Amino acid sequence: MKIMNCKQLGGACDKKFHAETFDEIAEMSKQHGMDMFQKNDEAHLKAMNEMQQLMQKPEAMTEWSENKRKEFEALPPVPG
Ligand SMILES: [Zn+2]
Repeated sequence: MKIMNCKQLGGACDKKFHAETFDEIAEMSKQHGMDMFQKNDEAHLKAMNEMQQLMQKPEAMTEWSENKRKEFEALPPVPG
């Protein structure tokens, strides 16, 4: 079990996600991003906008997610 927060995953708040794998945590952060998008949360809308800019460049997006994956892998596991 590892923990990353919304900001670390390209979001805008300190909400923590707990997951065993990077794919799992990326999915949680995506779901949370969509929830906040529906609530029209300004900070998250801005963060999502920046992510969308990144998605325009597939290479930059791949690099970003590989870096995040490495960051996740390097985290010390948390019991529970
Ligand atoms: Zn958030």
